[in-house]
Amino acid sequence: MKTECKSVYLHIPFCRSICSYCDFCKVFYNEKWVMQYLDCLEEEIKDFYNGEKIETLYIGGGTPSSLSLKSLKRLMEIVHLLNTQNLQEFTFECNVNDLTEDLVKFLFENGVNRLSIGVESFHSEKLKYMGRNHDYKTVKEKISFCQKYIENINIDFIYGFSFENKKIVKKDLKQILSLKPKHISTYSLMIEEGTLLKIKGYERLNDDADADLYAFIKKYLKKKGYFHYEVSNFAIKGYESKHNLVYWHNEEYYGFGLGASGYLDKVRYTNTKSLTKYLKKERTGERIFLSNEDIRDHHLMLGFRLTSGFNIEEFERLYQVKLENIYPIKPLLKNGDLMIKKGNIFINPDKLYIMNEILLKMI
Ligand code: SF4
Repeated sequence: MKTECKSVYLHIPFCRSICSYCDFCKVFYNEKWVMQYLDCLEEEIKDFYNGEKIETLYIGGGTPSSLSLKSLKRLMEIVHLLNTQNLQEFTFECNVNDLTEDLVKFLFENGVNRLSIGVESFHSEKLKYMGRNHDYKTVKEKISFCQKYIENINIDFIYGFSFENKKIVKKDLKQILSLKPKHISTYSLMIEEGTLLKIKGYERLNDDADADLYAFIKKYLKKKGYFHYEVSNFAIKGYESKHNLVYWHNEEYYGFGLGASGYLDKVRYTNTKSLTKYLKKERTGERIFLSNEDIRDHHLMLGFRLTSGFNIEEFERLYQVKLENIYPIKPLLKNGDLMIKKGNIFINPDKLYIMNEILLKMI
């Protein structure tokens, strides 16, 4: 069944400084490249966008907030190429150091209604390892003026450093909660190839301790009124990320920009991660053509990221199969890995930490 694509991701790869753990697609900020890049981004959109009414727009990076006011104005001109008459959610990623009242006012006046802010932690040793430098008082002031314009704020939180324990996590979460965000995205630290942490031989927390912290975070945030709706994401009810739900519902979306990924017409694609190539309009990176079986598998794998899982009847109608005939769900229901409630099948909340192992048993 073909539905109209209603989501767009735009990637801004520039960062003013590079964090030690980061393996995202990013480059050092350079104003000359920024303007060239935005010209190429505009061309890419003009070449591929079919004029659909966009409901969710996400500008991520890199650090979109690192752009100068001149570049931001240019970026917003590009956004206006999209049909935004039905736009419900417009997220803009910000580095906390870039936040000024003028910036937030500008974003608000240009339709941004959700900010995703990379706070990550307030713990001095964690910040040192990450290559970040902010303090609670400044962040609190900044978030307060953000909330005058845009109430829907996500805060990113990282845990999993070798010295980390519940006390550190609790203090971090307590401080994050005092900022009253509507949404919290949690990330367990990964030491990825090519990152500064990997080069320095840094080791993260062991898996058992990491699982304990994950269980603690879930319990703590639930107690504080945050709904755990996806493996790593928590929100005040009604503030779940509409854009990310498009991904987890296996729906189509455009991805524009350096290293951006999209999913259109049964193809999952990722643009080139080479800025030189992108600026020469050699955008093509990876292209994966999906069979109907692949799409079905993705529906299942992405759906299981949600704590509500997915609706069995809808799945069977969409793919014209009986779920239990395709995937070995019966033993997994029996051993408590999977559960069914109100027609939805989902991973047992107590076993979300081993989601990948459960998925491997099925696919
Ligand atoms: S974590 Fe974000 S701000 Fe830090 S280097 Fe990566 S993309 Fe840039």
